Amino acid sequence: MRERNNQVRGKLSKAKSHSASEGDSESRESLIDEAKALKAEIGAIEAKELVLREEIDNLAQDLPNLSSTNTPVGTEPQVLEYINDHPEPEPSQSDRVWRSHVHIGSELGILDFAGSAQTSGWGWYFLTGDAAMLEQALVQYALSVARKRNWKVVAPPSLVYSHVASACGFQPRDQNGEQQVYAIEQTEKDQTKPQLVLAGTAEIPLAGMKANQTFEDVELPLKTIGVSRCYRAEAGARGIDTKGLYRVHEFTKVEMFAWTLPDTNAQEHFAADTPSNSVTIFEEMLSMQKEILQSLGLHCRVLEMPTTDLGASATRKIDIEAFFPSRREKDNGWGEVTSTSICTDYQSRRLHTRVRLGKNGGKLEFPYTLNGTALAVPRVLAAILENSWNEHDYAVTIPEVLRPFMGGQERIQGH
Ligand code: AMP
Repeated sequence: MRERNNQVRGKLSKAKSHSASEGDSESRESLIDEAKALKAEIGAIEAKELVLREEIDNLAQDLPNLSSTNTPVGTEPQVLEYINDHPEPEPSQSDRVWRSHVHIGSELGILDFAGSAQTSGWGWYFLTGDAAMLEQALVQYALSVARKRNWKVVAPPSLVYSHVASACGFQPRDQNGEQQVYAIEQTEKDQTKPQLVLAGTAEIPLAGMKANQTFEDVELPLKTIGVSRCYRAEAGARGIDTKGLYRVHEFTKVEMFAWTLPDTNAQEHFAADTPSNSVTIFEEMLSMQKEILQSLGLHCRVLEMPTTDLGASATRKIDIEAFFPSRREKDNGWGEVTSTSICTDYQSRRLHTRVRLGKNGGKLEFPYTLNGTALAVPRVLAAILENSWNEHDYAVTIPEVLRPFMGGQERIQGH
């Protein structure tokens, strides 16, 4: 149709440049009519194409990444290793009294859930006194581990465009239709502006920071670490998880985010003996997480997550779970404290982040992105309280590595 349109327009412009005879003017009129009809038809097709293209884009957004060959197929994770030993109580310790962090924190006067019930409802909390200082110490400690390895500290914004969150693999609702993000109400005046949401993790603003930008290959890998408040609607959460600090609506998290050069045939290249740009950074993230959790004295296990747990963006994911005495009735006490993912080019494609391979007009490719929790405060704080609480004097021993960030303080004692 476009070809016919061009022909008609060509004939018309020729007819215009030659003086027209009577017969010519008739054919000119019919050409004008045909051009008008073609224009309307092409306009309608283009409008339809726009709608279909949008539909295709939306469907493509919903497609998850491919899974790596390391990922166990199904629902069961594979236990890779333990940190600080398996926490089965020794026979001599089997009559040890375990308490939940809610109990310990309230007794020590450092966690206040009654106050937050008045101000914000369930899922919020006040950290007071030593718990508030412990949060700062945990953040500073995680940053100190990352800075030793030249990770660049970034303070990201908390509000992000919802299309940036979607491009990173975070949809406003989960597969059960439960609301996952807090959206900012838009006034009528704002209707033409993109929707803003509260970021559930610094991964979103960090990934968005390089949207529509092109790296030079020498700039990669770029390793960043952000401290942010994370906001999660957690609609539909029930049971023991919602008691205390385990599943809350707002929390502080130190998050690693990196861009690497793309690997070719990434899904096949996750064997430990294959050199890979993204796996090198993945392993660096994991070793930082293990260093932090090991030095805090927490019993942990490292899990290769199965296909059903990868979410939209990850091709491979390793979680670390810590032992929470208060959760012994559920999951034998295990609870997730960190998560690390390789997202290949899933996010960079959707955010239009590119890398130029080779100088002077080299080939443009999509870099790979990775994200990993350096330290999510509430669960780690809860695990420290529960594991380092001493039943004889009701005090909590502060892990040695945190003491420099707490003025040398060694214990948290009741008043
Ligand atoms: P995610 O960004 O969902 O992979 O979570 C990273 C880490 O943040 C988890 O391993 C938890 O330690 C922590 N986390 C996630 N959601 C919550 C929540 N609602 N409350 C407290 N901590 C959370």
